[in-house]
Parts: sequence; C-alpha cells; structure tokens
Amino acid sequence: MAFDPHTGQFEFSNWDLQSVIADLLEFIPAPNLLHKASQLSPYECDGLSAYHKVPKMVVLPETIKQCQQIVKYCKKHSIPVIARGAGTGLSGGVLPVEQAIVLSLAKFNRIQKIDPLQRLAIVQPGVRNLAITEAAAQYNLYYAPDPSSQIACSIGGNVAENSGGVHSLKYGLTVNNVLSLKVINSDGDLLDIGGGECMDSPGFDLLALMHGSEGLLGIIVEVTVQLIPKPESAQVVLAAFNKITDAGAAVRDIISSGIIPAGLEMMDKLATQAAEDFVHANYPLAEALLLCELDGSQSEIEQQMEKVNQILKNSHSHDIRLSQNDSERALFWAGRKAAFPAVGRISPDYYCMDGTIPRKALPEVLGKISDFSKQYGLRVANVFHAGDGNLHPLILYDANKTGDLQKAEQFGADILKHCVDKGGTITGEHGVGVEKIDQMCHQFHSSELLKFHQIKALLDESGILNPGKAIPSLHRCAELGAMHVHNGKLPHPDIPRF
Ligand SMILES: Cc1cc2nc3c(=O)[nH]c(=O)nc-3n(C[C@H](O)[C@H](O)[C@H](O)COP(=O)(O)OP(=O)(O)OC[C@H]3O[C@@H](n4cnc5c(N)ncnc54)[C@H](O)[C@@H]3O)c2cc1C
Repeated sequence: MAFDPHTGQFEFSNWDLQSVIADLLEFIPAPNLLHKASQLSPYECDGLSAYHKVPKMVVLPETIKQCQQIVKYCKKHSIPVIARGAGTGLSGGVLPVEQAIVLSLAKFNRIQKIDPLQRLAIVQPGVRNLAITEAAAQYNLYYAPDPSSQIACSIGGNVAENSGGVHSLKYGLTVNNVLSLKVINSDGDLLDIGGGECMDSPGFDLLALMHGSEGLLGIIVEVTVQLIPKPESAQVVLAAFNKITDAGAAVRDIISSGIIPAGLEMMDKLATQAAEDFVHANYPLAEALLLCELDGSQSEIEQQMEKVNQILKNSHSHDIRLSQNDSERALFWAGRKAAFPAVGRISPDYYCMDGTIPRKALPEVLGKISDFSKQYGLRVANVFHAGDGNLHPLILYDANKTGDLQKAEQFGADILKHCVDKGGTITGEHGVGVEKIDQMCHQFHSSELLKFHQIKALLDESGILNPGKAIPSLHRCAELGAMHVHNGKLPHPDIPRF
C-alpha cells in the first residue's frame, strides 16, 4: 500500500472478504464479525447522514488484546481501520472509506473504577458520556463536559473529537477533563498516555495530541477522567431580546464583568420556535433567546445573578425569567439541548455547521449568515455556545430536491470561510471528518498541513488509521486552488505536483 506522509495521499488495498473472515475468526468470535448487508447498514454513516457508504466489514472486539490483533492484522495486510464509538459524530468521521474495516468499540462499555477519593473514573471507550455522571452521582461527583448528545455518545468518541458542551465555558473541553489514556497505535502496541491517576506526566504532551485526533493517531481503549463535586446549587436565567445584536452585547458584558457562567447559550427565533414546539419549555418568542446558568454556593449565585440581571436589562432584554427550582432549570435547558432534533422536525434535512469566532464578531457574523441564507434561498436556524463563540448554524434543506444538498454544502463552506476570515476556526467541537476537509485548506498553510501529515506518519507510518479524514492532502488543497504557500516557497521538495 502506498502512503505518502508528505502529501497524505493513501491508496487502498483490495482485499478478499472470505479470506479476511477466515483469518479474523482465528481470534474474533463469529457473532462479532459483521459482513452481511442487513448487519452493515447501521454503520453506513454517523450523525451527518448526508454522507454514507456501507462498509465491507465491521468487527466488534471485546478485549484490548483482540483490538491489538485486529490492528496488527490490518497493518500486515494494508487494510484501513476506522474506530467507531456511538456514531453520533457530525462531521462524517466514521464514514467507511473504500475497503476499510470498521472497528466498533461498542462492546467496550464497562465503567472499571470510580475512585471518589482521587475523584476519577477509569472507563472503557464505549461507555456513554452520561453514564459516567450517573455512576458518579452516588459520591456527589460528576463528569463535566456535557455534549447535547451525552445520552448516546461515547467517551472514546468525545476524546477523539475533543467534545464540548454547555458547561465547557466554565469547566473546559474533554481535553481539560481527561487524565490519561490507553491507546493502540498502528503497530498494535499498547501505549499508556498521560499521568495515570496523577495530574501530569513528564515528556511531550501526547495526551493533548490524542484529543481531537479523530481516529487518525490511535485506537483509544481506556480513558481515565477526572470527576468534580456537584455544585451546591445552580440557577438559570432566561432572557429574550428583540435584536440579536443586543443579546450579543449581553454576552460580551457578562463575560467582561468577570463572571464565568456555567453555561451561556443563545438561540435565534427559528431555533427557539422549533425547540418550543418540540419540548414546550414555555420559551418567549423573540429574535434571540439567551440562557445563562450560574453555579456555586447560594450566596455566590445570588450575588452574581444580581449583576447578570442588571446587564440583561441594560442590554434591552424585554423578558427575563429566573428558574425557581431544579425542574424548571431542567425545563429551560431541555429546549436548548433538544434544539437539533427539534430543527429536524421542521425540515426534511439539516446540515449542522460548527464554526468558532471571537465573541466580539458575533453580530457581524450572524448578519453575514443571514445574507448567505437569502443568497442560497435556504433557511437557517442558529444555535450557539455564545460564551465560547461557537456557532451551530443549522442549514435547512431537502435532500430530495436536486441541487439542495450542494447548495447547503456551499452555504456551510461560505460560513466557515467567513469564520476563519474573522479570526475564528472551521470547527469548535464537531471535528473535521470528511465534512470540513476542504475548509482545512483555507484555515492552514501548506507548511502547517505538512506538519500534521508528518505527525500522523510518526504515529501511523502505514497510514491505515482512518485515512482520508481530517487532514487534506496537499494535492487536494492545490486542486481546490486553496493552497497557502509561505514566502512563495514550497514546504517540501518531495511534493511532486508543485
Ligand atoms: C443531536 C446531537 C447533538 C450533539 N451535540 C454535541 C455537543 O453539544 N458538543 C459536541 O462536542 N458534540 C456534539 N455532537 C457531536 C457528537 O456527539 C460528538 O462529536 C461525540 O463526541 C461523538 O462521539 P461518538 O461516540 O458518537 O463518536 P463517533 O461518531 O463514533 O466517532 C467520532 C470520531 O471519533 C473517532 N473515534 C470514536 N471512538 C474512538 C476510539 N475509541 N478511538 C479512536 N477514535 C475513535 C471516530 O473514528 C470518528 O473520527 C452532537 C451530535 C448530535 C447527533
């Protein structure tokens, strides 16, 4: 198999299904080898259903040793391997490429240890995000990063995407909450990465490198996460605005006042309406809805809530409501957390973008998204982690209408390009996958992309781990006419077509 670390080009080998089944049966039980059409269809896509392809085979190992054997076998026979968690990803990260074997971590679903003294949990990668918090609740502890998909997504997938959630503004992303990992590299070796049960370890920070690596650098087979004490109390304030720019100003003023909310989220009118119709949270209908959660001791909350209230009034909010108890707090969040499926009810299909911008650019970027919406003739519902400057425009389209998907893709690409031009990035938390691979050419220079390929080649010299995702080949960028070249020089003399 040809893998060119300079360009990221990869050629797939053509393997025979029956002989691979016969070989794998040596160490994988037959029920854990899926190869019939009826078994394979659930694995053809992730949450980004616009792109799908039925894999040739799915393997469900149950032990680390089996994972190692599969990876070694695939390396020997030049077969690409795609790690798969719960398949809730939104960037096509688990899309089966030509001739790949999908390695599902679904059977790695055990919580191995909860240590309330060390405040940590050691879990297998297929454990659901929310299951960790549920298991830690008996010790009054919880796992902070809370993607809206937390009921289903796996902790292994969270690491591979460096996922965030409503509470990441105060408590950080996955990378800030993981202490160590066990990872299988493409040689099939098991690596211990990070400080184990301690806070840190010497040497290069491979733990950070694995976060957001999208299955390209290794298969995560164990995760040690830190747990934190549940706050004494938490309260949400909900505020409605007639102008989205006023809501943006409120976000700016809350953050610059020195308060760090546990969550600071915004929805526009279309998203609010869809969420209200779906969960009946009793949301006021306005151009923008802001949800701000404060947590800590009761006196801390009261003190900060007074300040937040004043800021909301000064920013012309016409309807301010404070949650009166935990069930009302949960109801206020229910609409926001269900915003994606709610939008799914008002359109045959939607395409979820995930750009980040400096917070100050929020009003301008929202205006631009609205312009693009008119230009492409497609509606857009905006949901965002406002405190983090992380936008999720949901572009509504109909895959059955000729050209609609292409329009949605181009619309999404324009939004992400605009985010980069405003000093932001093409992804905040959903990863690059196949979806944003072309926009990587806009975000990075050729020399930076080359470094990514060189790091990948160091950890996966044969290039078998999730090829064709996350990092575009330099040729691809050149063909798109999007190759940025530093100082008029090419980054490496071996890049053929330059
Ligand atoms: C309704 C909805 C809401 C969402 N809300 C959020 C949100 O608020 N915040 C957020 O960050 N994301 C959100 N997501 C996106 C998604 O849930 C996250 O990206 C999540 O971390 C994916 O986890 P998963 O187990 O489903 O991974 P998968 O989709 O199975 O895989 C995702 C990527 O991780 C890799 N991978 C998975 N497991 C492993 C492993 N063990 N070792 C190595 N690589 C692996 C895969 O190869 C792939 O590249 C949402 C998705 C949906 C559908």
